Amino acid sequence: MNFHQYYPVDVVNGPGTRCTLFVSGCVHQCRGCYNQSTWRLDSGEPFTQEAEDRIIADLNDTRIRRRGLSLSGGDPLHPANIEAVLRLVKRVREECPGKDIWLWSGYRLEELDAAQREVVNLVDTLIDGKFEQEKADPSLEWRGSANQIIHHFSVC
Ligand code: SF4
Repeated sequence: MNFHQYYPVDVVNGPGTRCTLFVSGCVHQCRGCYNQSTWRLDSGEPFTQEAEDRIIADLNDTRIRRRGLSLSGGDPLHPANIEAVLRLVKRVREECPGKDIWLWSGYRLEELDAAQREVVNLVDTLIDGKFEQEKADPSLEWRGSANQIIHHFSVC
């Protein structure tokens, strides 16, 4: 997997103070996408073991308390990203107790395959669906267009 950006301290993408990772690769080609540079799987830089370890360390950093991890892109549920994203979310679950995981994907919950569901089963919140320009609304919280749904799987 490649990634475009990692923000170790972020207060924009999800509730509270968070770590946010924007991965590379997206097949959805939404009209009006503001992140077209992330569409190609080989864009950005490799998500190395070092990068993964840093996220775990940042989430456990007690000097700046983070509420959790946000995964966006690109699409963290792109089939080519599943292996690395699954490994990361498993580590967060095991090594970062009390931290929540929010994930943004262009796929809708009901169309996920078994591998994508394995990831989603480990996150607290999924914001799903493509960005639809005709339903875009800047007043919406955590999503760009009204068709996208915020699924809270746990109370966090
Ligand atoms: S799912 Fe997101 S990153 Fe992918 S094309 Fe749509 S808006 Fe862009």
